[in-house]
Amino acid sequence: MIVGVLALQGAFQAHIDKLTDLGADAREVKRPEHLDSVDALVMPGGESTTMSMLLESSELFDPIADRLDDGMPVFGTCAGLILLSTDIEDGRPDQRSFGRLDITVKRNGYGRQVESFETDIETTVTNEPVHAVFIRAPRIMRIGDDVDVLAEARGDAVLVRSGNALGAGFHPELSSSSEIHRLFLESLAS
Ligand code: GLN
Repeated sequence: MIVGVLALQGAFQAHIDKLTDLGADAREVKRPEHLDSVDALVMPGGESTTMSMLLESSELFDPIADRLDDGMPVFGTCAGLILLSTDIEDGRPDQRSFGRLDITVKRNGYGRQVESFETDIETTVTNEPVHAVFIRAPRIMRIGDDVDVLAEARGDAVLVRSGNALGAGFHPELSSSSEIHRLFLESLAS
């Protein structure tokens, strides 16, 4: 099982380190041919507008969309969550997303004073609370019927799952806990 990490921009190395620590074979995905060998994909945090442009210029957008249609498991964090959503508030007009999670996300949705914060969250899928780091995080404003909410913070959904897509508004790769990555890897094994 090879886990690709979209490595065009943003916090991809921390994901690779986390996945490698957990025993996974994690590899950078920068070009379409890198996609051929991966069984699953992580989309990291960073800047979703920039990633959207780089996905087009690298010609990765359409091959990734095809693989997602075929059922490839995907895990998006922060900007990666934005890339997986169906609807984006405060995005760029030309910003594209893969529409795998039927949610509306508001970019930088926590306002200026609290743009970045950390908190421990209870989840429905881990035994221990998870330390969650939010950095200019997207706020989930609407949740579609087919989307399961696995954790909330400050009254909002922050960890969601639908079909083959898992999404987090926070940065589990920057936390000392590995629970969310373990959850993703376990879902690949089952
Ligand atoms: N604000 C960023 C965006 O809109 C996301 C921030 C992050 O990934 N830490 O893409």
